[in-house]
Amino acid sequence: MARLVMKFGGTSVATVERIKNAARHVKREFDAGNQVAVVVSAMSGKTNELVAWCKEASSVYDQAEYDTVVASGEQVTSGLMAIVLQEMGLPARSWQGWQIPLYGSDAHGSARIEGVDGAGILAGFDRNREIAVCSGFQGINPRSHRIVTLGRGGSDTSAVALAAGLKADRCDIYTDVDGVYTTDPRIVPKARRMDKVSFEEMLEMASLGSKVLQVRSVEIAMVQRVPTYVRSSFDDPENPNPGTLICDEDDIVEQQIVTGIAFSRDEAQITLRRVADKPGVAAAIFGPLADANINVDMIIQVVSDDQATTDITFTVPTADYERAKGLLESKHETIAYQTLQGATDVVKISAIGVGMRSHAGVAARAFRALAEKGINIRAITTSEIKFSVLIDAAYTELAVRTLHSLYGLDAA
Ligand code: ADP
Ligand code: ASP
Ligand code: MG
Repeated sequence: MARLVMKFGGTSVATVERIKNAARHVKREFDAGNQVAVVVSAMSGKTNELVAWCKEASSVYDQAEYDTVVASGEQVTSGLMAIVLQEMGLPARSWQGWQIPLYGSDAHGSARIEGVDGAGILAGFDRNREIAVCSGFQGINPRSHRIVTLGRGGSDTSAVALAAGLKADRCDIYTDVDGVYTTDPRIVPKARRMDKVSFEEMLEMASLGSKVLQVRSVEIAMVQRVPTYVRSSFDDPENPNPGTLICDEDDIVEQQIVTGIAFSRDEAQITLRRVADKPGVAAAIFGPLADANINVDMIIQVVSDDQATTDITFTVPTADYERAKGLLESKHETIAYQTLQGATDVVKISAIGVGMRSHAGVAARAFRALAEKGINIRAITTSEIKFSVLIDAAYTELAVRTLHSLYGLDAA
């Protein structure tokens, strides 16, 4: 007997018919004698609709009320899943975030999980192996007692945190692909499914744009050592594939130098031209951005040719682009730049692999390959197990496919 958490994403619960199919996977695990907690997302498209309604209601909506609205999508699917399971003759009930309770910080819209109290769900397991159908994405703040949500894609994080809280043997993330691929299979048909991927690489892939898992879910899986699988809800429930296991680097026998390519359209570029080249300038630019909670990612400072001024280029999340521009324009006199230029039609392409720690020249090969395709690189960053380049968005697919082939990742 094992204890499992099974999470079903938006496309897997998009209709009552799909919920019935997902329920067959749950039944298989229940019939095998396991204790099962299920985590569900809202039906696909529902959260977007709820977000749009908030924006329509007010351009400056209260974040706590936003959470009240957007958390409702998961309430519907948890209730429907419980009804479907009961209809199949299984003991099941729904649990909302506040009922579990799953505690979240007061950062409405992107709360961090502070803890999960699994006592009620465990009591149900002991009583009659009752299946706990939990609403993903939502929790309650223990101080304000308000509903909080965990940021887009947050049901993955609910599932892994619940698995940790219940001391589950495994967390299965059921989605519309049958595992983690070397890159997004929607962009590169030759992408290959991996049997295993290390926590570190998955963490980089998720934070660099592979939205198959929310970044925080991977963090929790890594820190709490939760064996986590990504697998397909569209497999035959009687004969499913195991999917991709996220695990320790040491458990992977055959390591590639580069394991995956990620891309993110969620970046915007800002360039300040002819900034005074003197101590304190970087602080004058990046201090206010940090104070405004704007994350700066890539930074390039050009060597000054006149010894007096320099150009500084950096990237910010697209969602913060207008705010960052406005802020820098308001500091025009203090920072003393000549012009501010911006671009949102850019994309960040990244290559990830723990093998980069021990191999030199991995990024250089990419720069050459991109140049041969006529793709201009606007900015570069590197760290121990990844490098990223910023390029024009029009070249996204070409660049991803070029790097995917370059590092031998294409399926035969
Ligand atoms: P869910 O609704 O189940 O949470 P998501 O849409 O959030 O599903 O995540 C699954 C999607 O992630 C896939 O359909 C795929 O297009 C995308 N994706 C991006 N990068 C990868 C990758 N490296 N491997 C697998 N899927 C990826
Ligand atoms: N329904 C939420 C979203 O669309 C959470 C999730 O699906 O993981 O972001
Ligand atoms: Mg998702």
